[in-house]
Amino acid sequence: MTDHLPLVDGHIVYVPMSGKRSRNPDWVGLHHVEDYSEFAGKATIKTTGGMLLQLNICGMSLQKKVHDGSFMSEFHLGIITNTVRRYGSFKVDSSKAGITNKFIHCSCRFHSLIPRSEEEVHQFWSNLFTVLFNELAKSDVTMSVAKSFRVISSLFNKVRRW
Ligand SMILES: [Zn+2]
Repeated sequence: MTDHLPLVDGHIVYVPMSGKRSRNPDWVGLHHVEDYSEFAGKATIKTTGGMLLQLNICGMSLQKKVHDGSFMSEFHLGIITNTVRRYGSFKVDSSKAGITNKFIHCSCRFHSLIPRSEEEVHQFWSNLFTVLFNELAKSDVTMSVAKSFRVISSLFNKVRRW
């Protein structure tokens, strides 16, 4: 994903309606969208409240924006659901999801990354921290990357135990 990233909290999903070069894009809440269409650089969006919006979307694909926002929503919900499973249950009121679950059956390479188990959530966090620690270690000029990585990991694990 190379544009502005969607803002996501479960089924609350705001997607930017312009590319990376725009400093202040318009944002559309997919959880408020019932349906949409796009044609000739214009998007028509019908909200769950019955309003019709028309926006210029020249040079972008609304379908891709909806897909990417939906993916991030499902990913976030996958993490929450599979983390909470150990302690109890977590249910989402999908009647307020708007079109955030439009791509729930998509089988693209992004959607295949959505965690479906506690082990996959654990693997996600492990991979994320490995990447972050590695990037931090690369910027440490006082020691080797491998040693810096071990120091950062050790500090993180101490803090996590508190
Ligand atoms: Zn997909």
